[in-house]
Amino acid sequence: MSFDSLGLSSEILAAVTEKGYKTPSLIQEKAIPVILQGKDILAAAQTGSGKTAGFVLPILQLLSKGKKAGPNKARTLILTPTRELAAQIYENVQTYSKYLDLKANVIFGGVKPNPQMMKLRRGTDVLVATPGRLLDLINQRAVSLNELEILVLDEADRMLDMGFIHDIKRIIKMLPPRRQTLLFSATFSAEIRKLAKQLVNNPVEISATPKNQAAPTIIHKVHPVDKSKKPALLVHLIKSQEWTQALVFTRTKHGANRLVKYIENNGITAAAIHGNKSQGARTRALAEFKANEIRILVATDIAARGIDIHQLPQVVNFELPNVAEDYVHRIGRTGRAGRTGNAVSLVCNDEFKDLSGIEKLIQSEIERVEVEGFKPVNVLPASNLAKKAKKPKKFSK
Ligand code: AMP
Repeated sequence: MSFDSLGLSSEILAAVTEKGYKTPSLIQEKAIPVILQGKDILAAAQTGSGKTAGFVLPILQLLSKGKKAGPNKARTLILTPTRELAAQIYENVQTYSKYLDLKANVIFGGVKPNPQMMKLRRGTDVLVATPGRLLDLINQRAVSLNELEILVLDEADRMLDMGFIHDIKRIIKMLPPRRQTLLFSATFSAEIRKLAKQLVNNPVEISATPKNQAAPTIIHKVHPVDKSKKPALLVHLIKSQEWTQALVFTRTKHGANRLVKYIENNGITAAAIHGNKSQGARTRALAEFKANEIRILVATDIAARGIDIHQLPQVVNFELPNVAEDYVHRIGRTGRAGRTGNAVSLVCNDEFKDLSGIEKLIQSEIERVEVEGFKPVNVLPASNLAKKAKKPKKFSK
């Protein structure tokens, strides 16, 4: 299968070729022709599947045929959960539309609204937005969605996880009923299906998880350690195991900043991304990490969601998350698409309850490996699951 056979225009194909793509990914092969027909879709696709081009390319083609956007109107809305993801999608839209006469804009919180408002005046063919800032700007009449032609909900599951359901519902109420809707989500829980019911009309369901693709292999371990020794253990692991790059999760913004300083003082390049950093600083840190100029990226959970980093070899939980599900999200950052990834958690005695919650959720005991020289004084109790397994059953039927 080649891009030529998908029904895309020569202007779009030229931009795709320049980007260096030779063949469409599975989601692109399946979604592009259906979207070009004007149909709604429900697509199960992960970050890394090429889903962005899967919806952006056909949307650009549809838009290039219609009439231009009026002042303060938007023709397409792409809703995403995070600023980082919004910025990445916008970048993609600009790349793929370089030979078309279409206007794209991106709006998200954390930066001044005025420049965004000015840009919206001339009308927008493709608007990429996070829900909160979009609602602010709609309330200020900077943008109107009453002539919207296409709605994309990207990473719908994450948007729900992050509590955007009410914002999404408010936005949906402002849209014209006759429109094309594309919903992308990594998972299809009952909650997503419920949301989808209110949104899509007779959708084509698409799944891009190739059956023959090996499931990602993630090796995860716990290193029991005293709290005060965690920074030293982390640096020891980076150096002794020669990690090329790692994403390290901390619970707090201050913790992230402190840890970056510690790592840098040990001669290793590092940067933090979290909600207190300016958008510019976050984008810069991510770009430097992707370009391999920074070895260690330290992030809080919210900041890390939606970041487009693929096939990370190493993820570290410097502290365990309070919410057990976040553990699964965090370690899912490694071992994508059939590659092996490593996830390690530095766990102190205080965190036993969090560890038990995670093991209960994933229904398995995480292997514990003590590192020489870092054996904890405050011992981490044995896993609750292990205790349960050893207990003889009280009754037998
Ligand atoms: P996404 O899942 O949309 O975040 O895309 C994942 C990565 O794959 C991005 O870095 C894209 O630039 C890249 N990509 C998308 N489509 C293709 C393709 N057909 N061939 C090669 N790389 C692609």
